[in-house]
Amino acid sequence: MVATDIITDKTNQEEPLNLVTLTQVIIKEALEKLGYSDETFDLLKEPVRMLTVRIPVRMDDGSVKVFTGYRSQHNDAVGPTKGGVRFHPEVKEEEVKALSIWMSLKCGLVDLPYGGGKGGILCDPRQMSSRELEQLSRNYVRAISQLVGPTKDIPAPDVFTNSQIMAWMMDEYSRIRETNSPGFITGKPVALGGSHGRETATARGVAICIEEAAKIKGIPLKGAVIVQGFGNAGSFLAKFMHDAGAKVIGISEILGALYDPEGLDINYLLDLRDSFGTVTNAFQNTVTNQELLESECDILVPAAIANRMKADNAEHLKASIVVEAANGPTTFQATKILTERDILLVPDVLASSGGVTVSYFEWVQNNQGYYWTEEEIATKLRTAIINAFHKVYNTSQTHGVDMRLAAYVEGIRKMAEASQLRGWV
Ligand code: GLU
Repeated sequence: MVATDIITDKTNQEEPLNLVTLTQVIIKEALEKLGYSDETFDLLKEPVRMLTVRIPVRMDDGSVKVFTGYRSQHNDAVGPTKGGVRFHPEVKEEEVKALSIWMSLKCGLVDLPYGGGKGGILCDPRQMSSRELEQLSRNYVRAISQLVGPTKDIPAPDVFTNSQIMAWMMDEYSRIRETNSPGFITGKPVALGGSHGRETATARGVAICIEEAAKIKGIPLKGAVIVQGFGNAGSFLAKFMHDAGAKVIGISEILGALYDPEGLDINYLLDLRDSFGTVTNAFQNTVTNQELLESECDILVPAAIANRMKADNAEHLKASIVVEAANGPTTFQATKILTERDILLVPDVLASSGGVTVSYFEWVQNNQGYYWTEEEIATKLRTAIINAFHKVYNTSQTHGVDMRLAAYVEGIRKMAEASQLRGWV
């Protein structure tokens, strides 16, 4: 099946195809716009490597539980592969593959010397003790150790993984290699070679994209914002927008959503929030995620997980700007509807690229053994995101295409060229 068939097949259906197939449709279009052959598409449409591992862990009750984990490496023509590891009960092989392709696009957009990678373990960290999580993290690194390393594939945090988990993984890798290897993983605590500004980097990148998008749409930065998801990206973003004077009128997390047209007390919510972003259980007057998505606002930020905004939501959405802080939150059909409705959609591969950008700065600091200040990191991040944003916006204007396709064109450009220069296609 070729991409055009897939598009035709899909015209009246909501997501019958999986995330990789949908990604391939846009990759195909992007490569056509750049004048590349079908061979290049054939190479870039799937990850070059996908490892599945089974990870036994001795649980606190003495039993052994065997978890399934993945590590996908999309393409390493530009440099080592790079991307987070998620711990989540809904992790699927196809999704990890798609996430690794999206990482390639993010790295290409910000011009980082990496291809994309991604890992995931099917588990529910909310039900696990700290000791069990440590064992799972260490055993995962042992299972994938042959494929990863500072010049091969560099993991990082993602959904439900954090700097402590990165510390355990770095320690395990360093023990296996018998050498201190901070450049093996990013998102580490600062005391272990982590970078200033890494924890807040994804949210900072989203906030910068919001500023640029608001200028284009001519809406005030102090407008009303709704943030769907209250994890690392969503919670810091809500704080930054609140501190910048915007009115954050809605937030949601896995258990429910809060909405107040007068503005929510974000600092209070941040204090209440647990490490998984749960916060709404302390309130009586919650609304559903669906209701929140369709509430009146200027800026909507989906910051949860994939496929949370569907065609039906897109039809009823009131925002003028949607900035995707999560990976893949808007379905294919919903994207089409937003474009038709002239709602400016800043796609995930652009809006959420702040995290991997500061991960790159962390890796550079580890490699050079010389560390930058928080201000230096903030300035470098700002420059990188603003450049990426305008590159994508200009391409979307010049080619008359939506921001997602424009981001794919810019995100895949260097990888396609590098693959060709190496003689792979
Ligand atoms: N997990 C983050 C992402 O999806 C960051 C990846 C990284 O820092 O390598 O972009």
